[in-house]
Amino acid sequence: MKPTSFDYTAPSTVGEAVALLGDEEREAKVVAGGQSLLPMLNMRLARPGLLVDITRIPELGRLHVDGSGNLRIGAAVRQAHAAANSAVRDGWPLLAAAIGHIGHPQIRNRGTVCGSLAHHDPAAELPTAALSLDAGFVITGPRGTRTVTAEDFFVATFSTAVEADELLTEVVFPPPPAHHGWAFEELTRRHGDFATVGVAVVLERDTATNTARAARVVFCGAGSVPVRLHAAEDALVGSDIDEQALAAAASAALSGLAPADDIHATAEYRREGAAHLLVRACTTAWERCS
Ligand SMILES: Cc1cc2nc3c(=O)[nH]c(=O)nc-3n(C[C@H](O)[C@H](O)[C@H](O)COP(=O)(O)OP(=O)(O)OC[C@H]3O[C@@H](n4cnc5c(N)ncnc54)[C@H](O)[C@@H]3O)c2cc1C
Repeated sequence: MKPTSFDYTAPSTVGEAVALLGDEEREAKVVAGGQSLLPMLNMRLARPGLLVDITRIPELGRLHVDGSGNLRIGAAVRQAHAAANSAVRDGWPLLAAAIGHIGHPQIRNRGTVCGSLAHHDPAAELPTAALSLDAGFVITGPRGTRTVTAEDFFVATFSTAVEADELLTEVVFPPPPAHHGWAFEELTRRHGDFATVGVAVVLERDTATNTARAARVVFCGAGSVPVRLHAAEDALVGSDIDEQALAAAASAALSGLAPADDIHATAEYRREGAAHLLVRACTTAWERCS
C-alpha cells in the first residue's frame, strides 16, 4: 500500500518544530529516521497531514559528554553513529551493544536513538537499555522543557510521556558507576529480528568484599513497557554472583515476569528464555566488573 497524501517540512530550529507540532488541524507528526513511521504510513496505520522532519535541526545532531560526565544524545543522532562513537563504546558499552541488536545496518544507519525511544515498541532494545542505564529524557513543547526519568517515560506499548505537540530533544545517560560490569542478551528467531525476549544487566562490584553492591535488571519483550525486576536485583545484591544467587535471580524471573502470548512465542517460552538469558547476562556482567 501507499500512504495517504501528506505535506512535508524540515524546520531548522526546535522552536519552529514545536510550533508546527502544535498545528492540530494538520495533525503534524515528527519524522526522524523514518524506519518505523514510514512503514506505518505505507500501511495507513498513521495518517498525519504534515511530517515535521527534525534531522535538519543542527542542535539535535549533537552527541557529546557534558562537563558533569553525562552522555547527551540529540534527537537527530542515528543509531549507527552512536554505536560507533568512541565515548559511547568506552563509557556506555551496554548502549552500543544494544544498538548492535537492532535490525540490520541499513536500519541503524537511518534510525535514530531518540526515534526508537519515542516510538517505544516494548520488544525494542533501546528502551530497555535506557532504563537499565537510568537515562533521563529531555522533552520540549509549547509549555517549555522538562526532564522525565526512564521509569516515567515509557507509559504503554507505543506510548510515552511525549505529548503530540512535544518533541523528545535529547536523551541523557549519567556517568557509568565505578567498578561496574554489563551485559545485553536477547533471544530472536532470526538475526536482526526484534527481541522475543531480552535482558540488560548492570552490576556494581564492591571491591572491599568482592560482592555486588548494586544491580539493575531490565527485560524487553516481557510486558507493555521495559520491565525492571527488583526481585532479581535483590537476589544478586550482596552476593558474589555464585550459583545460589543466579538460581534465585532466575527463579525471580520465572515467577515475576508476566509476558503475553502472541504469534511469535508463548508466555511460558518467554519466561523460560528470560530466566536463561538472565543467568548468562549476570555471569558476563560480573566477569566484566573491574
Ligand atoms: C526491517 C526493520 C527492522 C527493525 N528491527 C528493529 C529491531 O530489531 N529492534 C528495534 O528496536 N527496532 C527495529 N526497527 C525499528 C528501528 O529501530 C527504528 O529506527 C526506530 O524504531 C524508530 O526510529 P526512527 O528514527 O526511524 O523514527 P521514525 O520512524 O522517524 O519515528 C518513529 C515514531 O517516533 C516518533 N518520533 C521520532 N522521533 C521523535 C522525537 N524526537 N520526538 C518525538 N517523537 C518522535 C515519530 O513521530 C513516530 O511516531 C526495525 C525497523 C525496520 C524497518
